[in-house]
Amino acid sequence: MLEFLEKKLEEQYGLEIKNQIFQGYEAKRKVTFRVNTLKSSVIEIENILNSLNIKYQKVPWSNEAFIIINSNESDLQKLDIYKQGKIYLQSLSSMLPPIVLNPKEGADILDMAAAPGGKTTQMASLSNNKAHITACEMNNIRIEKLKYNVELQGATCVYIMQKDSRQIDDFFSFDQILLDAPCSGSGTLSTSDENVEKYFTEKLIEKSAKSQLALLKKAIKILKKGQEMVYSTCSILSKENEDIVLKVMSENNLEIVPIEFEGIEELPLLPSKIKGTLVVSPNELYEGFYIAKIRKI
Ligand code: SAM
Repeated sequence: MLEFLEKKLEEQYGLEIKNQIFQGYEAKRKVTFRVNTLKSSVIEIENILNSLNIKYQKVPWSNEAFIIINSNESDLQKLDIYKQGKIYLQSLSSMLPPIVLNPKEGADILDMAAAPGGKTTQMASLSNNKAHITACEMNNIRIEKLKYNVELQGATCVYIMQKDSRQIDDFFSFDQILLDAPCSGSGTLSTSDENVEKYFTEKLIEKSAKSQLALLKKAIKILKKGQEMVYSTCSILSKENEDIVLKVMSENNLEIVPIEFEGIEELPLLPSKIKGTLVVSPNELYEGFYIAKIRKI
């Protein structure tokens, strides 16, 4: 099953790490969520979970992130804190790009691939609703989910735009950009999914890489000089990650900003072709993910 992927991962990381990644694909991931500080607080959520006898763990790199031990996704979705938008179910890895970007109050921020809005609403929360966030999404159906989540999460600093981000006018410029690019999803595969071979194909990787390159080129054009952006994918293939970043770096005056934050040593990291960028390995807590922080000089 997925022999071409095994071959690619073995070429990229070697046999031992490839086997470790495949074990990660087999792992059943724990349910995780983020507290929406625009509507609640960590203390309030902890008290509610304790009163419901829902057991949780925390992570060292974010006070708002919770790992749930003894409840599943559908049970959490029945809780008032979920229905009221006080928590947002989100994978741990997916919480990292906004933390790395560090959205600033007052900044003009572009989220170039926004739906369903996990990272858009997280950036609203991290900036206390005081950033000016433009959330761009081109898919008709997914944009409805984005609108719903932005509304439910009380992310009033978000302006939603339906557009192909590759077509954004070069006249615009932003202080910070998040490009959480469409990807093959090679970091989030589950080998227990019977359909995995139907949708996960070489063609999907090719198609993703093409659109990632076009999106990153556009991001660099409309990022203000001296400012920073984050490029992320839920893929662990260098073709969709480091190769895209290196290509754009060879054509522009850019530098990698090495990613550092408290608790980073807890992450299950894979070797990256670009020093200072992160490749997170899939396991029972984390999805496979890539994150690069880039400054325009
Ligand atoms: N950032 C989102 C979150 O955290 O909830 C997940 C984004 S998902 C990886 C990528 C999204 O980009 C999809 O919703 C897809 O429809 C959208 N997309 C793909 N190509 C796009 C383009 N050229 N312009 C705008 N959106 C695009």
